[in-house]
Amino acid sequence: MNEAADRLAEVQGHIADAARRARRRPDEICLIAVSKTHDADAIRPLIVAGQRHFGENRVQEATAKWPALRAELPDVVLHLIGRLQSNKAEEAVALFDAIHSVDRSSLVQALAKACEKTGKRPQLFVQVNIGNEEQKGGCPVADLPALLAEATAAGLQIAGLMAIPPADIEPAPFFALLDELAARHALPLRSMGMSGDYETAVMLGATHVRVGTALFGARD
Ligand SMILES: *Cc1c(COP(=O)(O)O)cnc(C)c1O
Repeated sequence: MNEAADRLAEVQGHIADAARRARRRPDEICLIAVSKTHDADAIRPLIVAGQRHFGENRVQEATAKWPALRAELPDVVLHLIGRLQSNKAEEAVALFDAIHSVDRSSLVQALAKACEKTGKRPQLFVQVNIGNEEQKGGCPVADLPALLAEATAAGLQIAGLMAIPPADIEPAPFFALLDELAARHALPLRSMGMSGDYETAVMLGATHVRVGTALFGARD
C-alpha cells in the first residue's frame, strides 16, 4: 500500500471533477502540497508519486529541509505561503520559486531589493485580507490598488492574488471576491483553497490550491 500516492490521486481526482463541473481544464490548476511541519521522510513518498509543487509557511523551516531534498530532485517547485518578515526577504527570494504572502509596502521594497541583488524573480502573489479580519495577515481590500501600484513602481511583477477566508463560515463568497479583485487588476493567478474547501475554490477560479492535511494527514 502506498498511502501518499493514494491520497495524491484522490485529491487530484477531486480537483479534476471540480474543474470539469466549472467547465475548466484540470491542468489549469496547480496543486501545492503544503509540507509545513512534515519532515523529508514524509515528503519523499509524494515526490516519488509525482508531486512537484510544495508549500512551506516559514523561511527558517524551509531552509533547513529543502536544500537537501532539492539536491535529490532538482525539478521541485517551492512556494512560500506564510508571513514573510522583511529582513528574511533575500533568503526567501533565494530559496522559493513563488511567494504568496506579499502584503505590505515595506515587504514590497525589501523584495524589490532582494530581487535586484540576487537576480532571481520568484512568482509573486499579493495576499489579501479578504474578510477584513483584525488579526489576519494580508493587505486590506481597500489598500490593494495602492500596493499593486507600488509593486509596479518598484519593478516587481505581481502574478496574482492569494487569500485565506475567515474560518468557520462559507468560503465561497470570499473566493468569488478574490477572483473578481484579480480580474479587476488583470492578474491571471488566484491562490485560494485548502484541504476543507479546495473544490469550491477550483469552481470559483483558483489557479493554485494549497493542500496540507488531505495529503499528509493531520499536523501535530
Ligand atoms: C497550512 C496552510 C495551508 C494548508 O492547510 P490544510 O488545511 O492543512 O490543507 C494552506 N494555506 C496556508 C496559508 C497555510 O498556512
